[in-house]
Amino acid sequence: MHKLIQKTMVSYKELGLVNTREMFAKAVNGGYAIPAFNFNNMEQLQAIVMAAVETKSPVILQVSKGARNYANQTLLRYMAEGAVGYAKEMGCEHPEIVLHLDHGDSFELCKSCIDMGFSSVMIDGSALPYEENVALTKKVVEYAHQYDVTVEGELGVLAGVEDEVAAEESHYTKPEEVVDFVTKTGCDSLAISIGTSHGAFKFTPEQCTVDPETGRLLPPPLAFDVLEGVEKQLPGFPIVLHGSSSVPQEEVDTINANGGCLKAAVGIPEEQLRKAAKSAVCKINIDSDSRLAMTAAIRKTLAEKPAEFDPRKYLGPARDNMKKLYIHKIVNVLGSDNKLIH
Ligand SMILES: [Zn+2]
Repeated sequence: MHKLIQKTMVSYKELGLVNTREMFAKAVNGGYAIPAFNFNNMEQLQAIVMAAVETKSPVILQVSKGARNYANQTLLRYMAEGAVGYAKEMGCEHPEIVLHLDHGDSFELCKSCIDMGFSSVMIDGSALPYEENVALTKKVVEYAHQYDVTVEGELGVLAGVEDEVAAEESHYTKPEEVVDFVTKTGCDSLAISIGTSHGAFKFTPEQCTVDPETGRLLPPPLAFDVLEGVEKQLPGFPIVLHGSSSVPQEEVDTINANGGCLKAAVGIPEEQLRKAAKSAVCKINIDSDSRLAMTAAIRKTLAEKPAEFDPRKYLGPARDNMKKLYIHKIVNVLGSDNKLIH
């Protein structure tokens, strides 16, 4: 057995990371949104950091429960620290990188992330009864704020499955609850449910209409009336959208043309996300699109070069394809490019 070592706390500030407070205030005022990209491996992290540096964008690196199970929370934390050094090495003098816990489900988990250097945590009590969600979120905020770590809460339930976060049906956020929730908990940002959902299969074909020109499925529009209701209640308060991948058809086509089988994958159209980014929505979570970009490039490379067995030869193109996707999101969807001070 290992001897129990007394762990000392690590502050994210020593690691060169930042919290979300100033970043979100600027994004809300500037009418853009910060990208929150999930990562669980080196190639993905390299692609995210290269994209953020080349476009001069702030960025949120997200660690989900699934990522912690896959890659280990401690390793991911050191990778985020490495990301700051890597960005500086690429010539970015003042990178703005947040290390964020995605969907924290307990106080203990949030505390352990804060203690090891995360600069932001989400406490997701959205599946709990309202008063329990308030109590849990408040407890996390009280601990986090002692260390200047920012906290994202959630009201309303998203449909879909992603990394053990699963719900059959979505329940839109009730705008009449948000002021009470934010006041009682003291949270720094709020994830709301307006029709986005987790995963690459966000809607059933029955929920969609068919585009007569392309024959492709068009999802139902987001509930912008709910978003407007929330903004009216909480003017200028940072709002977060989860489950906001667009599921690019060309990546799905590449996967299916090279031995894959993704049927009826549907995401959120980018023009709707562009509209949301201009509002109080200041953090948009994107995970599935990066998975699709990675898988498409790996399948294509292996199909074209069946004798290849050096992982760098197919993970390299996968990294390139993810980087291209991240740059596209930053520049064409979120509008967070050229926002770093030099
Ligand atoms: Zn989520």
